[in-house]
Formats: sequence, structure tokens, C-alpha cells
Amino acid sequence: AKAAGRNTYCVYEPQMSEMAALRVELEQSFKRALAENEFELYYQPQQDFETNGIRGVEALLRWKHPSHGYISPADFIPIAEQTGFIVELGEWVLRKACQFIVRMSENGFIPFKVCVNISAMQLTRFDFVDMVFRCLAEEGARPDMLELEITETMLIGSLDSSIEPLLLLKERGIHIALDDFGTGYSSLNYLRKLPINHLKIDKSFVQDIVGNPGEQEIFNSIVDLVHKLKLTVTAEGVETEEQYAFVKQGGCNYLQGYYFCKPITEEAVVLFLKSKKV
Ligand code: C2E
Ligand code: CA
Ligand code: CA
Ligand code: CA
Repeated sequence: AKAAGRNTYCVYEPQMSEMAALRVELEQSFKRALAENEFELYYQPQQDFETNGIRGVEALLRWKHPSHGYISPADFIPIAEQTGFIVELGEWVLRKACQFIVRMSENGFIPFKVCVNISAMQLTRFDFVDMVFRCLAEEGARPDMLELEITETMLIGSLDSSIEPLLLLKERGIHIALDDFGTGYSSLNYLRKLPINHLKIDKSFVQDIVGNPGEQEIFNSIVDLVHKLKLTVTAEGVETEEQYAFVKQGGCNYLQGYYFCKPITEEAVVLFLKSKKV
């Protein structure tokens, strides 16, 4: 690092400038990527502990880049959020999810939830609620098959203004889930104030659970609290049999994780559903 004036540092590290270049490249190719159909939705099934069947899926975005291969959403979503492209991309995701809902209901896979991740910039737009209703109506998708996932960190500074749009969505039968629960700093406040149906306990909790009585107590207490609030709960990131056994005994409603199934294509979801049908 080299000092370049008072309180300003320019960091000359090859890795960083490469990352910056990649960032600019991705930023500039978002529009093309959308037009050229480089984005895809994968779907990760969620298991229902009560029925052992499938509760639904979470839609997860993938970018099949012509020269960089598959790019993780963890890498490009933050860039899309910073540039504002997430608004357009988020609408594309929602529309694809609605089309998927229609195909699922036509195949008789009901009840079934399709969960879609929503970014802060989408939720705080004045036309967000209308956009969701319009997508559902134009595609002919049932609102009660759609679940929108929001995170507590995205609501920092906009908690109060987020309540009204969420209520409007909920009134129409759309489910609202609080995602990555436990990673923010004021979780209980969000739980108390937000109109939500469902909560997803972050994978960092689940992954620390085995052989860790303190973490186990916290996990079980969250599940009890959620049930007292008449909400349902999913454990995220369940990878091993030990984790599976623990979250199940704790009374968790659903699980999502590699132990049950990783994110897969729509064709694979249909096969998976048929193979699990009881
Ligand atoms: P998320 O919403 O917390 O999604 C769950 C992530 O955990 C997914 O990563 C999924 O593949 C991964 N996962 C599932 N089971 C396991 C497991 O057993 N172990 C481990 N280690 N990981 C597991 P993915 O697909 O890479 O997505 C990363 C994040 O990108 C998502 O985290 C979400 O925040 C964001 N994202 C993905 N798709 C969208 C989208 O359409 N819109 C927005 N706004 N964000 C999205
Ligand atoms: Ca999510
Ligand atoms: Ca999550
Ligand atoms: Ca996350």
C-alpha cells in the first residue's frame, strides 16, 4: 500500500486490480447477459419434517457467463445491487418463478411454495407491490404458492417503511419469510415488528450445532419462540446426518440443505418430486 495523500491509500495489489477489472467487466455485461439468456434459475428443494415430503423450493440465481463459466450470486448480486441493475434482474427472477409456479400447479404439485429472494432496493421501490401483483396476474400464478424472502440486514434504516408493502403482499396470500435469521444485530425487533409468516435460521447456526450445547440451546429456543409467535421455521444449510437429527428433534418444521438436496434444474426438480411422492 502506498500513501497517496492524507488519509487516502491506493492499494497496488495485482489480485485486487484484477478483481476490480472483473467487477467492471461484470457490471458492463449485465444487460447483455439478460438479453442473451445467460441467467438461469436453479431450485433447491425443502423437506417437510411432518410429511417427509417436499414443502417447496428456493429459487437461486445462476449466471452462466460465456468466458468465466458459472458465477456465484454471492459474487454478482452485490454488484447488481450497487449499480441498480438488481431491480430489472429481480423482476426477471420473479417472472421466471411465476412461470415455474404455473408449471408446478399444472403438474399437480400442490401445495408447493416457490421462494424468491428480494433485495432491499426492490422492496423499497414505490412500485414493488404492483410489480409483484402484475407478474402473478400476467403469468397466471397462484399468489399462495409464492414466498418472498427478505433479510433483516436489508431492512436497516427502512424497517418502518417496509411494513406497509409487506402487509399488502401478505393480504393477497403471498408468504413473507425472514431469511438468514440470527446474522443481523437486532433480530428480535424484526421478529416483533415485521408481518412475516416464516423464518429461516441461518446456516451458520446449523453448522456449529453438533457437539456444541450452547448453540443447541439457542437453536431450540429460536424454534420455540417462532412457534409461540405462530410462525413456521426452516433450518438452512443442513449438510450432515447429525445436523439433520438435531434440527428434527428440535421441532423445526422444514429443512433446506445439501443433506436433502442441493440446488438443481427444473427438470431435476420434477424428477425429484416424482421420486419422493408418497
Ligand atoms: P441465501 O438466500 O441464504 O441462499 C442459500 C444459499 O445457501 C445458496 O447459495 C445455497 O446454494 C446455499 N446452500 C444451500 N444448502 C447448503 C448447505 O447445505 N451448505 C452450504 N454451505 N450452503 C448451502 P447461492 O445459491 O450461492 O446463493 C447465495 C446468495 O445469493 C443467496 O443466499 C442470496 O442471498 C443471493 N441470491 C441468490 N439468488 C438470488 C436472487 O434471485 N435475488 C437476490 N436478491 N439474491 C439472490
Ligand atoms: Ca434466501
Ligand atoms: Ca439464507
Ligand atoms: Ca444470505
